[in-house]
Order: sequence, then structure tokens, then C-alpha cells
Amino acid sequence: MMTTFRAWWVSKETDASGTAMQTASVRELRDSDLGAGDTLISVQYSSINYKDGLALCGRPGVVRSWPLIPGIDLAGTVEASDSGAWSPGDRVVLTGAGLGESSHGGLSQRARVDGSALVRVPDALGPLRTAAIGTAGFTAMLSVLAVERHGVSPADGPVLVTGAAGGVGSVAVAVLSRLGFEVVASTGRADSEGEYLSALGASQILDRAALLEPGKPMQSQRYAAVVDSVGSHTLVNAIAQLKDGGVATACGLAQGSDLPGTVLPFILRGVSLAGINSVYAPLPLRQEAWARLERDLDLDLLDGMTEVIPLAAAKDSAERILAGGIRGRTVVDVN
Ligand code: NDP
Repeated sequence: MMTTFRAWWVSKETDASGTAMQTASVRELRDSDLGAGDTLISVQYSSINYKDGLALCGRPGVVRSWPLIPGIDLAGTVEASDSGAWSPGDRVVLTGAGLGESSHGGLSQRARVDGSALVRVPDALGPLRTAAIGTAGFTAMLSVLAVERHGVSPADGPVLVTGAAGGVGSVAVAVLSRLGFEVVASTGRADSEGEYLSALGASQILDRAALLEPGKPMQSQRYAAVVDSVGSHTLVNAIAQLKDGGVATACGLAQGSDLPGTVLPFILRGVSLAGINSVYAPLPLRQEAWARLERDLDLDLLDGMTEVIPLAAAKDSAERILAGGIRGRTVVDVN
């Protein structure tokens, strides 16, 4: 039985002047350092999401309890469980549910969690690919499910994906195109990532500059749906370009958390805005999303958008994701 293990550790320390600052480092920990939970997991992989960038770089808004092991995703093997639902050897995935925010997270070789939010690692994916999907890919699928529930089908017209070269965006482009949608990918990196986005299935690449600034409240009708991870003016312009009865999903705030628009598209075109919260997605929805990812995400495309890094490199990737410099998904091999 392993008695010590390695994990990232985020803590608040006070400098000589009395100013509190957040620090992050890899530490040697014991099982007794882990929090409450009925299931002990030997973690194989975590990943770097935008939120992990914020947590590792000492930005506010994610870490709600100090000190904390960050990491909002984990994929691993159950070592022991009193949950009744899981047995030693079961391969499981956990995204969100407070992991790496209010309870110790996945950037660690071990984790103790509540078994009620765990999902079995889909057989066709295995733990590495499951972590590669992680919160970002899971959120992309929740967005696609919301588009489908709104009744939008490929025959209704193109779907705009914003922040397309990022984690949520990349998976959304791949899944939507596999489902037969015409995908327009909005990116600030058309020069370097245009080919990548076309290979994922985008039929048109749009320079994100076209959406970044304030625009008219009603614009030409272009899209049957929008999958947005950017917020602010980008989302407002995208809503203003929805066709009658279209839907925009909102999951992120890479440009900003503001929504500086008007109600005109809602009352004149009957469009809808669907909020996406992956953190507290109920278990049946989690299971549905993972089953759909297993079915609708091309594994070669997933592998092509994935970089695997060691535990020690997580902070470098965190800095890069906050700078908008990560393409696709980054898996952390914690061992
Ligand atoms: P990434 O950093 O991988 O992707 C974000 C992308 O947004 C970037 O790659 C970039 O795409 C674009 N972008 C970055 N900065 C700006 C900017 N200033 N203006 C316009 N576009 C910008 O992050 P994730 O995909 O992991 O997450 C995306 C967002 O979704 C984050 O805000 C995250 O917090 C949120 N999120 C929310 C979840 C939820 O449950 N609601 C779950 C998961 C994520 P490009 O270079 O192509 O322009």
C-alpha cells in the first residue's frame, strides 16, 4: 500500500509585508492529507482546463478552500470504496462536482472522492482518452446535447463554434461535424490553427476579430445554433446572427463574463440562450454525455488534439492556457 504520493498543492501564504499570496508546488503527501469521501482512487490522468489554469496560477474564482490539491478532472482506478456502487479495480472518471475547487482534485497520484458523481470509464475510450476529453470535452458534449434538445438538426443550417481551437471548441467542432452539421469555427489563430480546425471537420474558419467588438443588435441571420465558450461581445454578436428560433449555448468567459446585448434577437427572432454547467450536471446527464462521447467523437481526431505532459509540467501548461496558447486538450500523466 502506497503511503506517500505526489500532488500539486495550492496554498495561501503571507509575505513579510503581510500580503497574502497564493503559491502552487508539487508536494509529497499522505493519504491522511486527503479530504472526506467514500472512495479512494489511484489516479492515472488529470488534465489542464481553463479553470486549472486559474487555480495553478493563483487567479481568483476557482479555489474555494485552502490549502487544496487542484485539478477539476481525474481518471483512475478504484482502490477502495464504501459507496456500494464501486469496487476495487473499477476504472472511473470524475469531472467537476467541486473537484479541485472546494475539495481536493485530480492533479495528484491519489484522490478520495464521493462515489456518487463517478462515471465508469467508457470501454472504447480507456483512461487516457477519457482524461483527454475531460471537463472541456464533456462540456462540449453537454452543449451539443442542448442544441439537439432545442430541435436543431443539420438541415437547419450551420453551427458556429467560438474559441474553436481551445478544449471545449475543438471537441465541439469534431463532434458536430461527425453528426453531419456544417461547422463554422471562430478562432483568433486562423493562421496557425486553420488547418487543424479544418481537419477536425470545420467547413469554414472565421477570424474571431469579426465577433470581438460591439455590433448591431440584429445582424444577418447565419447560424441555426452557436456553441460558445467565449462570452461577452462574441456571444452577443453570435446571438444577433442566429436564425429564427435558433439557440446559443453559453459555457465560458474567455473574452469576458459580461453579456452586453439587447433582448431584440430573443423577442424578434425567438432565439434561445442555453446555459451549460458541467460542474453540477446530474448523474443521468453525465452518463448520457459520456455514452454520446464514446459514440460520436472520432478517436483519431481526439488523439490528434491531445498532448500528454508529466505532473511537473502542469504549471507551464496552466500559464499557456490562460494566455490562450493551448491547442485542443492537455492530459497530465500524474505518475
Ligand atoms: P481553452 O483556453 O482551451 O479555450 C478557450 C479558447 O477561447 C481559446 O483557445 C481561444 O480560442 C479563445 N479565447 C481565449 N481568449 C480569448 C479572448 N480574449 N477573446 C476571444 N476568444 C478568446 O479553455 P477551455 O476550452 O478549457 O474553456 C473555455 C471556457 O469555457 C473557459 O472560460 C472555461 O472556464 C469555460 N468552461 C466552462 C464550463 C462550464 O461548466 N460552464 C466547463 C468547461 C469550461 P481561439 O484561439 O481559437 O480563438
